[in-house]
Amino acid sequence: MNPGAQDARADAPDPLYEQLAAYAGRPAATAASGKDPVNAPMIRHWCEAMGDTSPAYRGPGAVAPPTMLQAWTMRGLAPDPESDDGTGRSPAYDGLLRLLDGAGYTSVVATDCEQEYLRPLRPGDLITYDSVIESVSPRKTTKLGTGYFVTTRMDVRANGEPAGTHRFRILKYRPVERPTQRKAPLRPRPVINRDNAGFWAGVAEHRLLIQRCTRCATLRFPWLPGCNACAGQEWDTVEASGEGTVFSHVVMHHPSFPAFDPSGEGGPYAVALVELVEGVRIVGNVVGVPYDKVRVGLPVRLEFQRMDPDLELPVFRASEGG
Ligand code: ZN
Repeated sequence: MNPGAQDARADAPDPLYEQLAAYAGRPAATAASGKDPVNAPMIRHWCEAMGDTSPAYRGPGAVAPPTMLQAWTMRGLAPDPESDDGTGRSPAYDGLLRLLDGAGYTSVVATDCEQEYLRPLRPGDLITYDSVIESVSPRKTTKLGTGYFVTTRMDVRANGEPAGTHRFRILKYRPVERPTQRKAPLRPRPVINRDNAGFWAGVAEHRLLIQRCTRCATLRFPWLPGCNACAGQEWDTVEASGEGTVFSHVVMHHPSFPAFDPSGEGGPYAVALVELVEGVRIVGNVVGVPYDKVRVGLPVRLEFQRMDPDLELPVFRASEGG
């Protein structure tokens, strides 16, 4: 059923499983009806979303795509006024989930669904359905953790005739505990490709290289394969002098990314768009002043800062008395 799932040890008694298995055959959702009859607008939206252009789903004589079966039974996000707790779930299904939650199997993941089609659905068909807890598996261990697969089966009727079944399987599980890592967080690695490799080669030599079009001499940054001014493909580089000013900046408060905060604590920290004297702009950290002292027009000077053993980055130090 699920590759990677292993049966619990056959000799280990599992009293919880006995309790869970007693739910098999009990209703998961009480006799219910679809919110809308089968209808052409929903079919059209589905086909557009799926990119399905089959003529069978359009015009007079159209049928609904069979894979829409579940869509006709969906209750929407708003609480259901017809059910006691607003979920549309039966007391039995709620009881099963509470039993699992109470035993520590608090996580849930949908694993698979299976459908069987008994008759085509056409615009105007009125949908009703019943849902039953079909089975609960013995305890299994998966990569996610240990838990129980719960399969529900929905029997869908159109105008009272059997139209299809929809089986839906979840795993209720206790997540595998992973040791929490206390290592200092690292900055994301730059993605180095053929178009920007020359820039990173420059950083390795503590040189900030700006691309220059050899046809029209326009400078460009960040690095690109071609010139935006003349579409020229040939380029060379000029080395930035390192002088610049803060053109714009943001202060990052939330979410916390400790790797980006010069203090290593997660913020707040300033991210600046620095205009180099050569005229191009580059995003980077401003160092040497608190985040709330970074301002537009602040003079800064390039330096290279080692972030970790494998990464050095250009940063901008606020000049004395800036
Ligand atoms: Zn050019």
